[in-house]
Amino acid sequence: MSFLKLLSSLHPLNGHFRAAWRREGRFNGYIPVSVITGYDAKVCHLCKYINPEGESNSFLATKFVLRAAATLPGSVSTSEDQLSVRRQNPYPLELIESLVNQQSGLPESTSVGALLIPSSIKNSVEPLTVSVSANGYYLDVIARELGVTDASQVMVSRTIGKASSEVRLYCCTPKSYQLVSSSDSHAKEAVQGCLNERASYFAGHLIYGDAILASIGYTWRSTDLFYEDVSLHTYYRLLLSKMPSGIYKLSREAVLAAELPVVFTTRSNWRGSFPKDILCTFCRQHRLPEPVFSAASSPSESSSELPASHSNEDRNGEGLAVSGRELVDSGGAFRCEVKIFSMCQKLIIECSLKKTYKKQSDAIQNAALNVLSWLNSYFRKLDMSIEELSSLGVELDIQFYPQHFFKEFVWCQSVHNYWHSIGTYSNCLSQPNTMVEYSVRSINIEGPSSGVSPSSGSLASISISISLVAEGEDTKELLESSEEFEFEIGTGAVIPHLEAVVAQIVVGQSASFIMELPPQELVFAACNDSARALSLFSPSEQNPYFLSDCSLEYSIVLLRITEPLEERMEKALFSPPLSKQRVDYAVQHIRESCATSLVDFGCGSGSLLDSLLDYSTSLEKIVGVDISQKALTRAAKTLHSKLSPNSNTLLSNNRLKSALLYEGSVTNFDHRLSGFDVGTCLEVIEHMEEGQACLFGDIVLSLFCPRILIVSTPNFEYNVILQKSTLQSQDDDPDEKNQIQSCKFRNHDHKFEWTREQFAHWASALATRHNYSVEYSGVGGAAGVEPGFASQIAVFRRLFDSPNHIDSAHQYEVIWEWSITDSSRSAL
Ligand code: SAH
Ligand code: MG
Repeated sequence: MSFLKLLSSLHPLNGHFRAAWRREGRFNGYIPVSVITGYDAKVCHLCKYINPEGESNSFLATKFVLRAAATLPGSVSTSEDQLSVRRQNPYPLELIESLVNQQSGLPESTSVGALLIPSSIKNSVEPLTVSVSANGYYLDVIARELGVTDASQVMVSRTIGKASSEVRLYCCTPKSYQLVSSSDSHAKEAVQGCLNERASYFAGHLIYGDAILASIGYTWRSTDLFYEDVSLHTYYRLLLSKMPSGIYKLSREAVLAAELPVVFTTRSNWRGSFPKDILCTFCRQHRLPEPVFSAASSPSESSSELPASHSNEDRNGEGLAVSGRELVDSGGAFRCEVKIFSMCQKLIIECSLKKTYKKQSDAIQNAALNVLSWLNSYFRKLDMSIEELSSLGVELDIQFYPQHFFKEFVWCQSVHNYWHSIGTYSNCLSQPNTMVEYSVRSINIEGPSSGVSPSSGSLASISISISLVAEGEDTKELLESSEEFEFEIGTGAVIPHLEAVVAQIVVGQSASFIMELPPQELVFAACNDSARALSLFSPSEQNPYFLSDCSLEYSIVLLRITEPLEERMEKALFSPPLSKQRVDYAVQHIRESCATSLVDFGCGSGSLLDSLLDYSTSLEKIVGVDISQKALTRAAKTLHSKLSPNSNTLLSNNRLKSALLYEGSVTNFDHRLSGFDVGTCLEVIEHMEEGQACLFGDIVLSLFCPRILIVSTPNFEYNVILQKSTLQSQDDDPDEKNQIQSCKFRNHDHKFEWTREQFAHWASALATRHNYSVEYSGVGGAAGVEPGFASQIAVFRRLFDSPNHIDSAHQYEVIWEWSITDSSRSAL
């Protein structure tokens, strides 16, 4: 581009040329070469083309530019020792002067906040101030801050962070530069000095010595110099935005509360940036090429059985770039594959989802989330062995290629190592799905305790404020707060400590708890006034307490619970709600059967067991089994308060001697639950894979052998009615509509939903195999009217005496136990 054309354009180099002509003394008109490579994408690209190593070594690019400039016919003078170039006054002096003297909006002198990133990782990042002025060249000022005389000895990095950012890193050109330029083969050894790992990590190329992080420069937006303060807060947010969970936390503006969820259930329940966008951001952050998604539709066994009327796909794509074959098969389900490549196009991570989805975008989001979850675990525990990473990958349908993968993340080790130093916190975060010994102290719950307690799949809406508190002091520093923060229960969308506390309270209640301090970096990223937080952290005379004496105080109020769609439909469209009708149906059978013992397979939060206590029955022993600890915790809570001697609910059942909750899978046999009078299994089998449901059928009728078994499951044929009515009533909520359309079943957790014929086929074959009789019934709708009941029910009755089973190992773990004592009986 010609000089004149450049000066009349808004090319960022324009500003540098003007400033260069304003430079006084022997540097008048000289442009530092690194400015050209740093600001001109085309030049930068060409350099990479000449030698791909230029990507990680910016000195190489500088050298190419110098060399090219030297070959230009006479008009350019280069100063090789100073790494700058200059035109030899090809234009009249007046022209240059008039351009240079054009008024700029800049005041005489301005202080801009910047940061010094010392080359040694042991030294902390410190704030510093750069004074820029209308007349001077800001790069000369930065040069002096770096301890060199002028701009030509400064290297400018690419922009860092978001695409629109002007944040760059500045460092000195290596002292031994001349050596480098004189002999290629020695280049590497010659570029000495202390490698600045933190700066290199951000810039994506090698940086030596101390570096300055600042947001100053010429942009495409204006010829005036742009500047903005860069604070420690900015730095820690940049650091956080390198991690998958960090990108998510920032997108939710909840650094201390949010977590990258471990599952993507539905689009309408997800909050914050979507997994695919987070993955793209992650790749950009680490200078990896855009991830490649390929979604394909393939007919699957379960979906091919769907009646045609249920398969009108919603394929109004969300503008996702998708390649690959796409069969327009109306009964098809979508599968997705994601590939991540290294800078030099080597495959480093590959995720090929086994599961299929009804919507293409759901398949893509889930595949992206799997990759993110895997990467997140890696960032949380950077010293994980290849074996650990591989086995983690197997769970997530991921394969990774260590030899290329680790090369792309060399700097993470040292820069993110802080994450390791904090034991419990990171340990419990790395296993968001298991119950953890979390270090929460002084939980304090207030407010009336009757109401809805959130269950999995619900959306909880809370108000939250998180403050830094110092032991034994009144000081409280608010770090993060939100009037209304919504998240899906049971997906790990918030830190486990917070979710555990929310699970214990009901709408209207408030709770506060104290938690050990997370990594300092997280606190700084959350806190706007890092200087203030820093002062709280560092011991000084005014602040005798520091880090180890501080903790976080979370205060929340549970504002609202939005139940999962299935529950809402069951409440809105049936009176009494379908769930109540199911429970009532079971209660009636139990009473008629004069049973003394009952086991509820897949008892969930204990709704059946709880209602049973409201009726007078002949039951002496009631037991619940479930695989979900969360559900069992809720069940234990309700049963406990109802059965406690000082409960003010009067027990109608005065024969009850014991109540027990077990954790375990109903597909495993435990002889302690063998030979009960009644077994119930309400809306459970559809939550298992079809094969497991069949296995459960065989195990329950051949080993558990209850006298009566009641099994309920949705009638798939009834969904048309549910969807029609819900869509009508939800006309104004596009999110809701989307959710209904994206889910072929009533609940995203259902693995299948059977038609009446499929259910009868399963139940009759099962009954015959194990000498039971079976009768069909249901609740919601009517037997004779199409499309049958909303929930279909099979009642199995044992035809012969149950065989005796030898004791086998205990498969289940007792979660909660109650048995009558004299004192509690007298209280009844
Ligand atoms: N029966 C309850 C809960 C239904 S929700 C009610 O009617 O309200 C389905 C329940 O089945 C969930 O609590 C889930 O944890 C449980 N579940 C799914 N698979 C299971 C298995 N293999 N073993 C035990 N419980 C299971
Ligand atoms: Mg269900």
